[in-house]
Amino acid sequence: MTAPIALRLEGVRRRFGDVAALDDVSLTVQSGEVMAILGPSGCGKTTLLNLVAGHLRPEAGRVTIGDRVVADDGCWIAPQDRRVAMVFQDYALFPHLTVVENVVFALPKGQRRGGEERARELLALLDVEELAERRPTELSGGQQQRVALARALAQDPELILLDEPFSSLDQGTRDDVRNELIGRLRQTGLTCIFVTHDQEEALSVSDRVAVMHEGRILQVDQPEALYRKPFCSEVANFLGRANVLDGVAHGESVDTPLGSYALLGQAAGPVRVYVRPELVGVRGDETGDVVVEGRDFRGHDVLYTLRLPDGSVAIAHRPSVDMVEVGQRVRIDPQPGHAALVPVAFGDRDTAGVPH
Ligand code: ATP
Repeated sequence: MTAPIALRLEGVRRRFGDVAALDDVSLTVQSGEVMAILGPSGCGKTTLLNLVAGHLRPEAGRVTIGDRVVADDGCWIAPQDRRVAMVFQDYALFPHLTVVENVVFALPKGQRRGGEERARELLALLDVEELAERRPTELSGGQQQRVALARALAQDPELILLDEPFSSLDQGTRDDVRNELIGRLRQTGLTCIFVTHDQEEALSVSDRVAVMHEGRILQVDQPEALYRKPFCSEVANFLGRANVLDGVAHGESVDTPLGSYALLGQAAGPVRVYVRPELVGVRGDETGDVVVEGRDFRGHDVLYTLRLPDGSVAIAHRPSVDMVEVGQRVRIDPQPGHAALVPVAFGDRDTAGVPH
């Protein structure tokens, strides 16, 4: 049985002057789902959230939350009547109120009097109960983030929208905070949509990812499917580096200058494929015909730049054990995994089949 629909956007458009911030955007989010909206700066992510929250009106199209149309040609439901909570990048806590007062203030109007108990429950859910009497300026970024989430939950929303929620946390704590907070949001069963330009972040914690580019949604899919089988070259490039290779396909496998790989799908004859760098194994061998030209050490892993016999360059992503040196001769060991046929650019393909 499929979950009920929490949000549906149909053919939504919004311009700012000459800029099409959202251009015919359609998207369906299921109840309880954690959906990431991923794309580069300026692609329309925040505009999409603002349209759902009701801070902006669409010029065309329809927005439906649950089973209620909240915006279309003839209908407009104000933000405060939508049961949507939005957490902004800068958290936007009231500096003159304590933490617990900030949360009480966000409770629905009839529940504010005597609402302190509920506010403390939410602070406990997010593990910041002991900070209740402090003011926002006395908190770290991560703590403010938790309070902002508690405040969003206090609004008793159906949908929670997070705009780059983890971008101001430092790299060291970011992954842990992100995993923990999204985990806690999942416990509540709420539908959560968060915006990010960080592909790792989108892939690691969401049920599905919608990839945006220049005001359009290019593909919506589960993280692994997006990474392994991108619908168009923009998605493939945005989701990480890949070797683009000319090869010869034999049904379910393909021979490439980096060796033979299983092929996602089937093909015969000359093809162009992507081979992700983690599928390129490297083994030191003086008789090898590949030369290590660069080595980018990153702690737990390492990225090699390799010069192939035909003069072209490839990249390999390996764990940082048994490392090879720059200048060393190596052989390539294809790792288990699939090469994918290079898809054409979004603008060049029939978009009728875009999966939403
Ligand atoms: P970022 O990751 O940098 O926050 P974004 O993907 O969230 O970017 P939006 O903020 O939605 O992108 O903006 C989409 C486009 O619309 C951009 O070109 C932006 O300059 C433009 N835009 C957004 N809001 C306005 C506005 N109020 N007035 C004019 N142009 C705007």
